[in-house]
Amino acid sequence: LDTPLFSGLPGDVDVSFEFFPPKTEKMEAQLWDAVQQLKVLAPEFVSVTYGAGGSTRERTHATVSRIIKEAHLPAAAHLTCVGATKAEIREVAEQYWEAGVRHIVALRGDAGEPGAPFTPHPEGYAGAAELVKGLKEIADFDISVAAYPETHPDADCPQACIDHLKRKLDAGASRAITQFFFSPETFFEYRDKLAASGIDKLVIPGILPVTNVATARKFAGACGAIIPDWMDGLFEGLDEKPAARQLVAATVAAELCRRLYAGGVRNLHFYTLNRPDLAYAICHMLGKRPVGEKAAEAAVTGEAA
Ligand code: FAD
Repeated sequence: LDTPLFSGLPGDVDVSFEFFPPKTEKMEAQLWDAVQQLKVLAPEFVSVTYGAGGSTRERTHATVSRIIKEAHLPAAAHLTCVGATKAEIREVAEQYWEAGVRHIVALRGDAGEPGAPFTPHPEGYAGAAELVKGLKEIADFDISVAAYPETHPDADCPQACIDHLKRKLDAGASRAITQFFFSPETFFEYRDKLAASGIDKLVIPGILPVTNVATARKFAGACGAIIPDWMDGLFEGLDEKPAARQLVAATVAAELCRRLYAGGVRNLHFYTLNRPDLAYAICHMLGKRPVGEKAAEAAVTGEAA
């Protein structure tokens, strides 16, 4: 793709950043540092993950509330329905609403063991599409859902996975965020298939800058993502060289983003793993610059700076 190597990219990309809720005070400090560092890029939103089965229920709530109150960023709370009754989901959703959360990333989640089939709770939602519908009945949330360019492992075929995404969007979700992937063509082909299936809502590529292939490979299979073989070659011999691995990770992810940009993509969602540097550097290379605290807050509230 012909966009010259990062020269003069204007930064006209809307970005969002995903965090996970911290377990310890040290992790909390690390997360907060990441939020502060990325905040100046005026993200469209940031989001905080939710342990399937509600294992991070309090921590997700506390993290999202703090980001809204103290960083004044629009924060989306993830919410999974696996293992929960509809009444429990209602309680969590109502607590989010009371805390000022207006955006939920609505997910099914996975049952305990990796690869175990999903069985809905007898008094719960049958999947993410039903969850979206249920949340819309609770309050007028802005809802995002998950999409799988390389097909979710539970899908009978790629088209069934796309049809299911359409059900989630038709149930009231405004946009989808994709599972991570590593080839721009994967996204472009998926985008064409979505259009052919009548999906016209925003589908935001999820970007995971990988610094450790072995770790990424461990969880990729279970979540509908493929780590290409060429990645092993790129990281070969770098096990004991963390700084070199960071540089390789940044280069691979930045090049993916540049090619997505060249193909017309103007929204990117970064899986930050609570570390700001790679996401910040990639945004910088795409031309994004800090807008200053006041301007960042104005950009997200829609007020004049
Ligand atoms: P669903 O969309 O309900 O189903 C998953 C897939 O199963 C579908 O894509 C489809 O292929 C198939 N399927 C399901 N029902 C049907 C049907 N009726 N007909 C045909 N096919 C069907 N997990 C967490 O635990 N916490 C998080 O915070 C979290 N955040 C995530 C954020 C993003 C952006 C993504 C991409 C994933 C996230 N996950 C999270 C992982 C997610 O919970 C898992 O991938 C889970 O296996 C599926 O959840 P879902 O909402 O996509 O489910």
